[in-house]
Amino acid sequence: MDDQQISWDEAIGQVSESLEGAVSFEEFCQKVLNVRPSSVKNPKNSIRQRLRYDWRNRLIYLDRNTLLPTRLAMQGVRFAVPLTPQAVKQNLLLIDPAFVGFFDHRTLLKTIKLLDEQGQALPTVLKSFKEKETTPFGDMEVEHSGFELVEWFNSHQAQAGDYVLITIEDWDQRCFRLEYESAHVREQHRAEITAQNQELADLIFEALESERDEGVLASVAVYSAYARMQDPRGYPGDHWMQVIEQDSRMLYDGFMIRYSDWRSLFDMFDEALEESSTVEEAIALSPEQARAVYRFKAAFAFRPGLWRRIEIQGEQTLADFNSILVTAFGHDWDHLGGFWKRVQRGKSKRYRYIDLGTVDPFGGGEGADTPIASIELQPGDILKYVFDFGDWIEHTLTLEEIVEPEEGIEYPHIAAQNEPCYRYCERCKVEGRKTVATWICIDCSDREQRDVLLCEDCLNEEHEDHYTDKILY
Ligand SMILES: [Zn+2]
Ligand SMILES: [Zn+2]
Repeated sequence: MDDQQISWDEAIGQVSESLEGAVSFEEFCQKVLNVRPSSVKNPKNSIRQRLRYDWRNRLIYLDRNTLLPTRLAMQGVRFAVPLTPQAVKQNLLLIDPAFVGFFDHRTLLKTIKLLDEQGQALPTVLKSFKEKETTPFGDMEVEHSGFELVEWFNSHQAQAGDYVLITIEDWDQRCFRLEYESAHVREQHRAEITAQNQELADLIFEALESERDEGVLASVAVYSAYARMQDPRGYPGDHWMQVIEQDSRMLYDGFMIRYSDWRSLFDMFDEALEESSTVEEAIALSPEQARAVYRFKAAFAFRPGLWRRIEIQGEQTLADFNSILVTAFGHDWDHLGGFWKRVQRGKSKRYRYIDLGTVDPFGGGEGADTPIASIELQPGDILKYVFDFGDWIEHTLTLEEIVEPEEGIEYPHIAAQNEPCYRYCERCKVEGRKTVATWICIDCSDREQRDVLLCEDCLNEEHEDHYTDKILY
């Protein structure tokens, strides 16, 4: 390798600066390789990896094979931030939210340039103040910082509730133009704001749905969402953080955008401390929902030929479901059961699992009181059920149909099961008898390197002290 050569990082930077529009990934690689020839086997892979971990996010993907420099995508993008009473009192354009997700790093903040409506430079002196706030860790003094704009605020007779409209004039130069907008005038644009917010939210959510993991870097999702918006330079919607906050599908954890049911380590810690003091949510079911019968096919995930058809009513709970499943599959009763709902991610063939909670052997647990009808299942939907978190016995529960209850049946109820494929007791066989084997002797099987199958009687006679397991048909 030539020591004189520039780094991949520099090569990617040079090429991205030279681009005047979108390019195919192929073309981009060619340009990078022109600047930095390489003899590695698959240089395109190296380039893709490097783009993925480029902390400056200099390029974004418009689709899997098209790249656009972030500076071009963000050029002219507009958004609005509301003025809080404290911000007005202190004459500050607060960094949070205005520049969060863009240039909120200390060193970058010092290089930000601000322009007024006429394109005249505004002062960029950073100032901070402290405010008492209630946080999850108790009452704390929180520091807020912002750009002090005394004259600009005065000239507009700034009031809390009004807005600052921000336009990204030059991404690389970190130059922003500010416009003052009264609450009254902004309100007249309500329909446009709603439409802009919705489009941005949908695109960010799409980015999350198409990610392999169940979280996406906020910067990556937000930049590419702006790049795909029809008119991000039109009348500005709200700041992306506010847009996400108003969207029930997702959340922003300060770094990543995640599904709203995502639980941080902090949440889990909190839940563990609270123990069983879970908030009782009143789940109102209609009489129809309560009596409807959900017909599931429950099967071992790794042995689908072994199944039970289980019918359970809408008002019955996951604790009821757990207990019939334990019976149906002959599990030992003294372990935890857990339920998850499988949901499709976007239009893809990829899925994720939403935790519905666990049920303990005594019918407690955070999922125990959840009625089946409240899970909002359609025929074809799938639940994952795991019994015994140590052995992790996984089952697939497929909702076949929702039907009317039948007279005389007590739910939950095992309606059918797979055609059993019986195996027979080897000891009885020697004596000329054909008895279904209900046990496997693990010790003997291991020693003899074959399945040693027995009926209950033979097991008790010869294998009493052995390690054994029940056979399920
Ligand atoms: Zn026998
Ligand atoms: Zn044995």
